[in-house]
Amino acid sequence: MVNEFKLKQEICEVGRKIYAKGFAAANDGNISVRVDDKTVLCTPTMVSKGYLKPDDICTVDMTGRQIGGRRKRTSEVLLHLEIYKVRPDVKAVVHCHPPYATAFSVAGEEIPTCVLPEVEVFLGTIPTARYETPGASAFAETILPFVGKAKIAVLKNHGTVAWSEESVDRAYWWTEILDAYCRILVLAKQIGRVERISEPKVEELLDLKERFGLGVDPRRMEHADLCVNTDFGRGFRSPAECGCPTPSASPMTPPEILKPGAVSDEEVERMVREITDRIMAAVK
Ligand SMILES: [Zn+2]
Repeated sequence: MVNEFKLKQEICEVGRKIYAKGFAAANDGNISVRVDDKTVLCTPTMVSKGYLKPDDICTVDMTGRQIGGRRKRTSEVLLHLEIYKVRPDVKAVVHCHPPYATAFSVAGEEIPTCVLPEVEVFLGTIPTARYETPGASAFAETILPFVGKAKIAVLKNHGTVAWSEESVDRAYWWTEILDAYCRILVLAKQIGRVERISEPKVEELLDLKERFGLGVDPRRMEHADLCVNTDFGRGFRSPAECGCPTPSASPMTPPEILKPGAVSDEEVERMVREITDRIMAAVK
C-alpha cells in the first residue's frame, strides 16, 4: 500500500530545495509523483514551492481532472502526465526554472557534453525542447521525443523538466547536477575556454555507467555522437571576429625612430659618444 502522506511530504521537501536553490522564483515550478497507474499527486497553482504543506498537494487522474485536494492543481501538470503516459516506469517529475541551465536555451546554445565525468555518467545528452506556450497540450508534447532517451530536458526560453523511475528526490538531483554543470561552463568560458574530455575517456565513463547498473547510455544504443556542441567555449575570439583593434593599429606600435633602418649605425654611434662625453664631463 502506497503511503500517500509520505509522498506528499517528499514533494514538499523537494519544493523547499528548488526554492532555496533559486530554481523557482515566486510561484514558479511544479512537482508531481505517481501514486498508481490512475492517480498522480501534484503541486497547486499560485503557491511558492518553498512553503508547501502536505495538505496543499492536489490529486489528479491521468487526464488531469482534479480528484482531490483543497487547492487548484497546476496547469502544467499536463506536461507531467504526458511523461507518465509515455513512460509507465516513471515515478516522479520535477519542473522548475534553474537559471544557468535555462540561460543556455535563452542564448540558443545546446548544452555541451564531454566536459564533466558526473554529467556523462548521470545525465548523458541533455536535449532542448522547442519553445511552446506553457500550460497547453502543445507545450506538453514538445518533450515527448526525448522522454525515452534522457532524464532531463531543457524547455527553450522557459526552464527544465526532469523525471525519475526511483523517486522525486532523484528527479531533483538531475536538475541540481545540470544547473551546477551549466554554471561551471559559464564560469569556465568567462576565464577562457572550455576544454573537453577525449572521446576514448568518455567511452571509459560510459563503461563505468554500465558497471554501476545505471544502464546503457542512449548515445551508445543509437550510435550517436558522444560530444555535442563542441563549438561552445572555444576561447577568446580573434580580433577580426570581435572587431577589436588589430596589433598593427594599436597604440603599442613602436615609434618611427625605433624602427629598423630609421637611424643609421653612424648616427647611433655619434649619439652614444656624445652622451658618454657629457657624463664624463659631469663626473669631472
Ligand atoms: Zn514553468
